[in-house]
Amino acid sequence: MPKVRADSKGCLVLPDEFLKQRHFPADMEYWLDEREGDLILHACLPDVRKLYIEPTTGCNLYCRTCIRNVWSDPEAAMTMDTFGHLVESMAALPQLKRVVFTGFGEPLTHPHILEMIEAVRQRDVAVTVGSNGLLLDRAMARELVRLGVDRLVVSVDGVKPETYADVRGAMLSQVLDNIRGLNEEKVRLGSLMPALGIEFVVLKGNVAELPDLARLASRLHAARVLVSNVLCYTEEMRGQMLYGYEPQPPLDSGGWLLRAGDWLMWGTIELPRMHWGAERRCRFIGDRALVVGWDGKVSPCYALSHNYSYFAIDGRRKEVSRYVLGDANQQPLAEIWMSEEYVRFRSEVRAFHFPSCPDCDLRDTCDLRERNEGCWGWNPS
Ligand code: SF4
Ligand code: SF4
Repeated sequence: MPKVRADSKGCLVLPDEFLKQRHFPADMEYWLDEREGDLILHACLPDVRKLYIEPTTGCNLYCRTCIRNVWSDPEAAMTMDTFGHLVESMAALPQLKRVVFTGFGEPLTHPHILEMIEAVRQRDVAVTVGSNGLLLDRAMARELVRLGVDRLVVSVDGVKPETYADVRGAMLSQVLDNIRGLNEEKVRLGSLMPALGIEFVVLKGNVAELPDLARLASRLHAARVLVSNVLCYTEEMRGQMLYGYEPQPPLDSGGWLLRAGDWLMWGTIELPRMHWGAERRCRFIGDRALVVGWDGKVSPCYALSHNYSYFAIDGRRKEVSRYVLGDANQQPLAEIWMSEEYVRFRSEVRAFHFPSCPDCDLRDTCDLRERNEGCWGWNPS
């Protein structure tokens, strides 16, 4: 721990070695925080690595698992004016590596989605697109390859057509045909990109199809499958959840060989945890990511980017209020990222000073847990 000395005017002098190691300029600004008797210096660095953009909250489907069944937010698309502010903001985010076009809506329904992708690619930033895959026709597939989208993640919640139709109300064969079409376009255009990922929300009604999921992923040349537990927005979905307070058996997994040009790789399935206990880390904060909603408002993650309710593990309903840290129409993203509130919030999440209601002895009687307010004084919980 290097010792820091204040000069005769009370100015702290940070050691050269420390500044060099952290690549901090000597004139950098810091927030000075006092917490539980400690003094903390938070560096004001525009070190965003990942930017999630929600092009629209509109969708061509009405899935049974979707948050849009219960939320109170409007169905709306991002204007090109708002998107223009985001693109301008990117110049002041030197560590930005990836833009992810996803959110609670179908990005491919946005009339200007290809222009948006092109504008990001012109800045040499990698692009991921999340989609339900139903609008991925040949023309769209060709454009995604041409623009250099390097990851496409398609949601497929059933391996049997009837299971998929039951969850998503659409035809599995159409999604699979679209993915095959994309693979043909990749071969025709001599590209390995976009690499395909599959997302699968596991339910009582589709868990038996997990062993077939690896075979389907192999046939579709997917590089990765992400299986996640359902977050229950409706009573109906509570009957479909596989987790609970009691220990659950681990889910079946598998892998497959994947040819990528001259390379042979191993495709993998990532399975959700099936044992209870709060996971005291946040992927969004850990990845230095921020989320911009359709209206340009900035939130720290998708879970806090809308107003909705869901059922916790013990069946208690929780109302979630959107947590907004700034508006990209009014302020550059770097300024929002380095604001006092956002810097402190990230620091709190990294230290994880948050209570976990389902772990708490007062959970059956406490009313506070019905909202996303923390009983330890930090909001949102
Ligand atoms: S495709 Fe996605 S956004 Fe659209 S209804 Fe289904 S879960 Fe919701
Ligand atoms: S809000 Fe209530 S249930 Fe949640 S941790 Fe605090 S006291 Fe416990």
